[in-house]
Amino acid sequence: MLIVGGGAVFLAVYGALLAAGAPGLVLRGLLFNIGPITAMALAPHTLRRARGRQRWGWATVAGLAVCWFIAEAIYSVYELCGAEAPFPGAADLFYYLGYFSLIASVPLLSPPHRRLSDRRAMLDGATVVMAVGVLAWQFVVEPTGAGAETFFQSALLLGYPLLDLGLIVSLVVLFYGASGALPRPVAALVVAIAFTVAGDIPYLMGVGAGSTASWPDLLWLAGYFALALALYWAARDPLEAITRGRSESTLELVLPYVAVTPPGVAMLYEAFTGRVESDLVTGTAIAVMFLMTRQWLTIVENRQLNRAFEAEIEVREQLLIELERRNEALEELRREAQFRADHDSLTGLLNRRAWFALAADADATSVAIFDIDFFKRINDTYGHPVGDHVLKEVAWRLGGLLGPGSALGRLGGEEFAAFFTGEAGDPVMQCHSAVETIATVPVVLPGGEELAISVSAGLAPVGDGADRDEVLAAAYEVADGALYEAKQGGRRRLVWRAGVVKAA
Ligand code: GH3
Ligand code: MG
Ligand code: MG
Repeated sequence: MLIVGGGAVFLAVYGALLAAGAPGLVLRGLLFNIGPITAMALAPHTLRRARGRQRWGWATVAGLAVCWFIAEAIYSVYELCGAEAPFPGAADLFYYLGYFSLIASVPLLSPPHRRLSDRRAMLDGATVVMAVGVLAWQFVVEPTGAGAETFFQSALLLGYPLLDLGLIVSLVVLFYGASGALPRPVAALVVAIAFTVAGDIPYLMGVGAGSTASWPDLLWLAGYFALALALYWAARDPLEAITRGRSESTLELVLPYVAVTPPGVAMLYEAFTGRVESDLVTGTAIAVMFLMTRQWLTIVENRQLNRAFEAEIEVREQLLIELERRNEALEELRREAQFRADHDSLTGLLNRRAWFALAADADATSVAIFDIDFFKRINDTYGHPVGDHVLKEVAWRLGGLLGPGSALGRLGGEEFAAFFTGEAGDPVMQCHSAVETIATVPVVLPGGEELAISVSAGLAPVGDGADRDEVLAAAYEVADGALYEAKQGGRRRLVWRAGVVKAA
């Protein structure tokens, strides 16, 4: 802020003194040097803090300040001695060195070349350079050289506008290289270059002259202060990484069109005044061709993007379908796992935990336990697989014999349980008929042999109570007691709480 504010005040004072006609000795000889001195004063701190490529970049910027300060000082000395500075002289050497130094700083400070390899950005840059170049050539460079006596002098004179053109190219490179997202210090450098070039134009066109103070001084001074600001900012955030390219700024998009307009207008003007210069036409045409190529590239790029976008959508749709398929498979697996968690693998009946949970939920009114009689013998006589066969058979029969409103589970070994709800018929009748039927019909073994089996059963009513689990467990215990009684009483029978109902 101090630099911007101080610079503005200094420019105002300088301008006022200029307007008041202060002697060139004071302005050009003394005050003007404050510009480069400010930049030079800030340079050491920046160079201490900057690293790597950036340090070299800022060193070349500082080099410019030093070179041009020396050049100015040479003029000042001539001015103080009241002598005319020779042309070409030592001052020109330092001016040239300063230019080269500044131009050299651009590649060092410009962002990594990601954007520069972008063809579109390159064409934009080329369009702007071409447009500015053709104007510079037509109105600045070509007319220069008047007043030169020797070839060396004219070459030297022509060098200045060419170097300015070099600076413009640097400016465009910096701008497009960063994709419009310039870090603060580099942005200040861009401004400094713009001011310097702007200051050079009237000088080159013969408005200002050599060492005497004139209005372009203000532009140069502004350039020096922008340079000082760039160095100051570079010291404050030396590691502020040069930003990666983001999407193009509006200015970037518009600049090539704006740049092409003045040469186009100049060409039209010349055509109307009946004077057409081939340089101007050629340069403008090339700039326009760059612009057209850029448009074409944009169209091609858009089409590619479109195609990529469509392909992306296709891929996403496929992914979605695949995802749905996997979801369904997962749901199927989950259902299967749930079934396995709740069911006995041999008979497919509910297991103990699931049966009790269901009984509690279903408001069971009575509970029955069925136990195969002398099952161990079947196992021992026919083997385990036959035992399994009998278990499945009994499970299947019980399932069919007990009507709706009841649910069956295998609670362990050869023990089955059923609960009855209010919707079921008479549980006593149902259990009794089950015990009876199972005992009457023999089981046909896989070999064809018939095997008589029987079951005993205990039945108990489920009492009332808030805790269904507890009430159910109590009823189960009573039913188990009844079952024990049935076994003791000779098996193949149902015992129901209060008495024995003997199978026929
Ligand atoms: P009771 O008339 O007193 O009920 O006599 P039981 O032989 O039927 O009763 P016990 O409890 O002595 O024997 C039950 C047998 O059931 C013992 C066990 O080896 C057998 N068992 C338990 N689970 C299975 C099974 O999944 N498959 C087979 N094949 N046998 C089983
Ligand atoms: Mg048994
Ligand atoms: Mg048993």
